[in-house]
Amino acid sequence: MDYLDWLRWSGHGFVCPHCRGTKRWSVGGRWRCASCRKWVSVLGGTLFAGSRLPLTVWFHAIWRMATSKSGVSALELQRTLGISSYQSVWTMLHRLRQGMGSGTKNLLSGTVEVDETFFGGPRSGIRGRGTTGKTMVAVAVEHAGGKALGRARTLVIPNAQSSTLSGFLAATVESGSTVVTDGLNAYHAATTRYVHDVHVVHGSGAPAHELLPGVHLVISLTKRWMLTTHQGGVQPEHLAAYLDEFVFRFNRRTSKVPGLIFYRLVQAMLNTSPAPVPASSDVTEHSPAFTFLPSTTPTASHVAPHSLALPPQKMPWRKGPPNG
Ligand SMILES: [Zn+2]
Repeated sequence: MDYLDWLRWSGHGFVCPHCRGTKRWSVGGRWRCASCRKWVSVLGGTLFAGSRLPLTVWFHAIWRMATSKSGVSALELQRTLGISSYQSVWTMLHRLRQGMGSGTKNLLSGTVEVDETFFGGPRSGIRGRGTTGKTMVAVAVEHAGGKALGRARTLVIPNAQSSTLSGFLAATVESGSTVVTDGLNAYHAATTRYVHDVHVVHGSGAPAHELLPGVHLVISLTKRWMLTTHQGGVQPEHLAAYLDEFVFRFNRRTSKVPGLIFYRLVQAMLNTSPAPVPASSDVTEHSPAFTFLPSTTPTASHVAPHSLALPPQKMPWRKGPPNG
């Protein structure tokens, strides 16, 4: 709680979520607004709000989400932590995905490959709902010299009309950049603010992944991740959130500082208000099979391994505002 308090209010100072007042009192370890006198929790109005899971579980999950190459599924995390409610764990991970998708997004620039693709379908999509479960997604990825790729962006889109693609490009790619697409007609009208580089192979029938290798690599990595880490169990109404998670990790894949990613994610969690979780069969379909998992209770007292026996750490959040 000290850490979150420090992270949320040390920069701009305390702001009361009820009245925007900037003064507060500490009353028995809790905060009370000096203007409207309401109790203020550091978790209120953030993505942590309303969860019944302890913060230690949240921090464990954030660390896993921030540092693991392929993330973690709700089922795996539920087993690891011995939590009886699949739904609580799933909701926590969904909130983390919202945090991952909430940061400021700098526009892609330079040379950017853009394409659209379908996710889901008869095999991996929703069952018994009378729809095909296919969801269209626009994908963009930056070239970073040679075959190297830079950052990626994705967006669930309703169709591949030029107005839709134009909106995606405006929100994603800096104007004046070079946008590489295939020969889909809609891209002509959508790329008027860009240098448009059309990759088509006349008559040779070259497959799309050869025309746009970068964006197709991102698409296939995303689909493989959904099939492996999440066993293909991603529902269409949650696809956008899973895409946010994938892109968050993809764009930080070369980072050597996992602690910084953790820090940024906790920060995003505190700076984002919770959005309602879309209703889905995802949560309920899976949960009955796992309600019998016994919750594990630590039996022995915790002893830190020697590797963790470090001198006291600098914990600036315990001393008030950081000194730089
Ligand atoms: Zn107030």
